[in-house]
Amino acid sequence: MNIEHKHAVIVGAGFGGIGLAIKLQEAGFDDIAVLERSNDLGGTWSANTYPGAACDVPSHLYCYSFAPNPDWSHTYAPQKEILEYIRGVATKFDVLRHIRFNTTLEGARWDDEASRWRIETSQGAMTANFLISATGIFADAKYPNVPGIENFQGKTFHSLHWDHEHDLTAERVAVIGTGASAVQFVPEIQPDVHHLTVFQRSAPWIVPRMDRRTLGIEKSVLRNVPLVQRAVRSGWYGAIEAFGLMNFVDRRFRHIYESMGRFQLLRQVRDPELRRKLTPDYIIGCKRAIFSDAYLPALGKPNVSVVTDGIAEVRAHSIVDRAGVEHHIDTIIYGTGFTSIPTAFDHYVGREGLSMGELYRKQPQTYLGATLAGFPNFFCTLGPFGAAGNQSAIFMIESQIAYIVDALKTARTKGFRRVEVRPEVQDAFLEEMETRSRDTVWLKGGCKSYYTTDSGENAGLYPNWSFEYRRRTAKFDAHSYEVTV
Ligand SMILES: Cc1cc2nc3c(=O)[nH]c(=O)nc-3n(C[C@H](O)[C@H](O)[C@H](O)COP(=O)(O)OP(=O)(O)OC[C@H]3O[C@@H](n4cnc5c(N)ncnc54)[C@H](O)[C@@H]3O)c2cc1C
Repeated sequence: MNIEHKHAVIVGAGFGGIGLAIKLQEAGFDDIAVLERSNDLGGTWSANTYPGAACDVPSHLYCYSFAPNPDWSHTYAPQKEILEYIRGVATKFDVLRHIRFNTTLEGARWDDEASRWRIETSQGAMTANFLISATGIFADAKYPNVPGIENFQGKTFHSLHWDHEHDLTAERVAVIGTGASAVQFVPEIQPDVHHLTVFQRSAPWIVPRMDRRTLGIEKSVLRNVPLVQRAVRSGWYGAIEAFGLMNFVDRRFRHIYESMGRFQLLRQVRDPELRRKLTPDYIIGCKRAIFSDAYLPALGKPNVSVVTDGIAEVRAHSIVDRAGVEHHIDTIIYGTGFTSIPTAFDHYVGREGLSMGELYRKQPQTYLGATLAGFPNFFCTLGPFGAAGNQSAIFMIESQIAYIVDALKTARTKGFRRVEVRPEVQDAFLEEMETRSRDTVWLKGGCKSYYTTDSGENAGLYPNWSFEYRRRTAKFDAHSYEVTV
């Protein structure tokens, strides 16, 4: 039986996979396939449809640099608009034809003898010279360990799998978790529900969002004067990048951002007891700070209670907190975020027979967040140490795309059949990551978050400026690789 062969197989059709397909195609690589397990492209933006879903990096920065959009309706575009944008870009750059929808990558093993990847998908087997993972970092829902949850007789769902058929009107709703998604959907559902009980493990830092509708005149200027469009993007880039001062330069810069958070809390929460509950007990930035103007006021409404005592037990129609109070509940919504390792990492198996997931669990590792020792002809976007704690994910993804495309171009020009990062190069990179991470707010901020591993190490954020990362990934450094012609 003939197995289909491709020069490059990309896994995932979000910002990463679509951007890769566009840039590979522009570089003359047409023999590619994008595997996408769902029936739509957009990744994060087709999966997260909960009420209020929107980006929290301003839209003029949260889009591809090569496809600016003068028509964003708001400073922070809502989910549907971002999804339309990605669909539009994929159509305009003619990459839809490469996407295999409803095709899950189930396994991928490097065959050293044949110098190719052997890939298993839900639609059959394939082989590829290059395998590129673009499965993102927030692709799989994480559920909390709640004692007795199996006894619950009401409705439950995760924010990633919002049940739009289920009517919350007049229900008693529990929200477990207070991360970025919950902060967006809580103010949306609060006016409709009978009672909302928010179970909070630790209070997030909430800073002003200052979202607003874009004026027609602004759109027209942006459309007609590309220089202004670029200036707006650069302005936002600088403002967001400045978070790095607090993250990895000097934690004392936190006072600037913490004062914004404190002022917001003071202004928006009048009740001192509620304010006490909503005051974070760690340094801002240790966990992701969240931009919102609507969340804190929603928590102060008479139909909302915030429970900070933790959950002791779930019963058929209620949740009992650790203070012994029983809360009667019809629906539980999990706002508990995402698994720390994308499930796809367990599917990629390298030269030594170990999966990327197994290696990650020993120690988060890659070289430049874009490739991995022991995994020839393998690249990824947003791999460990390739995600920024203080910048648009798309900026990092575009850096990785440039690096990966240059790697494939170099291999084509020089006739390399196989490229694999040298272990000593990766080790030096990881050592640098460790040293640079030591004093970051993520490790020293006094919290536990998905930014760190269970043993308290950096889980994979790039602990330096994103412009420095861009410089490092601008060109494929073939000398850092073992190559076979
Ligand atoms: C609600 C929300 C808001 C966010 N807002 C921001 C923001 O404002 N700024 C920011 O920088 N970042 C934000 N992020 C992070 C966001 O995930 C990234 O910005 C970006 O969308 C990642 O794109 P991606 O293509 O790397 O991954 P994704 O968008 O997650 O796409 C990965 C794709 O891979 C597919 N896939 C996974 N496993 C398999 C498999 N085994 N086989 C086939 N396909 C597979 C998935 O179905 C998915 O389509 C947000 C995330 C969420 C959840």
